[in-house]
Amino acid sequence: MILKYKSKNIAFMICLLFFTGCLFFAQEPIKTPAEKAHYSEYTQHQAIARFLSHLAEISGNLKVRVVGRTLAREEYSSKDLLLCIITEEGVSSPVDLNRSKPTFYIVGAKHGNEQSAKEASLMLIRDLTVGELQTLLHKVNFLILPAANPYGNWFDVRQNEQDLDLNRDQVKLESPESEAINRVFREWMPEATMDVHEKGDDFYQVSIGCVSNPNIDASLQEFSRDVLLSEVNHKLKEKNITFYEYLVRQRMGIDSSAGVNYSEDDRGTREFMMRYSTTDLNDGRNSPGIYESLSFIQEGASRHDLETLGERTHYQYYGLRFMAERIGEHGKEIISLVRGLRKKLLQKAGEYSEDDLVHLRMKYVRDEKEPFIKINRFVRTERPILGLLKEDKKAGDPLTYGDVVPYSRASDRKIEEVVVTNWFPKVSPTKSVIRPLAYLIPSQFGDVIDTLVKHRIKVDVFIEDCFLDAQVYTITDIAEAEYDYLPPQKISMEEKEMNTVAKQGDFYVTCAQEGANLIPCLLEPESQYGLIRYWKYQLVPEKGDVFPFYRVIKKQELPLVPYVPWKR
Ligand SMILES: [Zn+2]
Repeated sequence: MILKYKSKNIAFMICLLFFTGCLFFAQEPIKTPAEKAHYSEYTQHQAIARFLSHLAEISGNLKVRVVGRTLAREEYSSKDLLLCIITEEGVSSPVDLNRSKPTFYIVGAKHGNEQSAKEASLMLIRDLTVGELQTLLHKVNFLILPAANPYGNWFDVRQNEQDLDLNRDQVKLESPESEAINRVFREWMPEATMDVHEKGDDFYQVSIGCVSNPNIDASLQEFSRDVLLSEVNHKLKEKNITFYEYLVRQRMGIDSSAGVNYSEDDRGTREFMMRYSTTDLNDGRNSPGIYESLSFIQEGASRHDLETLGERTHYQYYGLRFMAERIGEHGKEIISLVRGLRKKLLQKAGEYSEDDLVHLRMKYVRDEKEPFIKINRFVRTERPILGLLKEDKKAGDPLTYGDVVPYSRASDRKIEEVVVTNWFPKVSPTKSVIRPLAYLIPSQFGDVIDTLVKHRIKVDVFIEDCFLDAQVYTITDIAEAEYDYLPPQKISMEEKEMNTVAKQGDFYVTCAQEGANLIPCLLEPESQYGLIRYWKYQLVPEKGDVFPFYRVIKKQELPLVPYVPWKR
């Protein structure tokens, strides 16, 4: 009897232990690889794949897709680029996406040595799939590419395996990484994007920049700045995280964002100026922005050391999270704003009108109403503290380097408010043209067409010779650029209308498509951000030449079929 009672009791205890155990395990949050390692190492490709496999196993909201593959190098093999599609409905393709919610696309650590961008993205993926942010999926769809540069990540370097700066490759799309980043954007056409980076050590722990190219409708910049950034700033303040809109300091007359390798002499000793983030189209912000998107770059302050990895992952995470939550709060407005602008752009590009301008060249200008900007920054001071003693010492005892632990935090830097008078907050177009209906591109420019196709720009091909009315440019003066990635220093031309021949095999690129803003920016010879500035396309003409790309401004019946419409 006693035995029976005892065994019942033991069975009960075992059950109790089992259930408590289940509860314990159910509540144990899943750690990111970096959390598990207590931020003692950077998370690498295999650990990311394992972590995502674990999350995908337990969450029906996460679908992981391979969207590209890096190139193999002797010292590092090729790796899959992993996209996390996180939705309430658990969809895995754009056609199934619930379009009543905005879609937010995040790309992490395109620069391999900006590690916290990736660690914070992984944390966000965890919280959206199995953590406290699951309810946000009622309001927002997510596409997250947490590690956009596995090679750079492994070697802790900025470039990819081709030694390319991926954030200057969004026009050429020469790297498999940039091609994948861009393809995901074009296939899903998210309303909002965020490219996550790290800057240097800075008083402002999180900085976010919004669209700045004047071809992008001004309402997107206004909404970004006045609503989203302002609210994110407020939320970050509550977390004691310092924030300022992303600012760039560069020497006057130098384009520090173009991707140019300036010589020491050219960098020179010119005065510094300050501006918002670049108007260039080859980075990860204006490149999706040009499709009328709410596009951002987040830059976390960084000393690029393991010691601060946990701390910087923390504030990068909150920058991302608060932006995601704000997008959720303003979902309806965002959908109507972005989709409305995209529709309007398509309509405009379908008709030739003198009022429909595309801005080809632009400059950063001062604002009379805002003659200076006040910001906080760290200044190095003389170090009053040499280090911390490991053990007690008496006066007269010898002190060696081994007795001291370095003391580097806060003591050697103080915060100073600076007033920047070389402040150029605005952008002013300096050269604009009327958007044509289309461009005629001769058949020999196959590499130009390949790039356009990579951008998912619709290209047609002539199936027989025909006459065509077009506008052509004759070059009257030209001075080549000194550097690859820069437009000609000087280019002037005369424009005339003529009846010309389009040959079988020539290409025809209509502007009445989603890329309506991008197409003229890439193809016009006077464009500051056009294909002409990359030496690989060999597009720089000589004086007296007729520029090979013709502008079509009249609607005409033409013998065209879509070029390469097939899918892989
Ligand atoms: Zn970066």
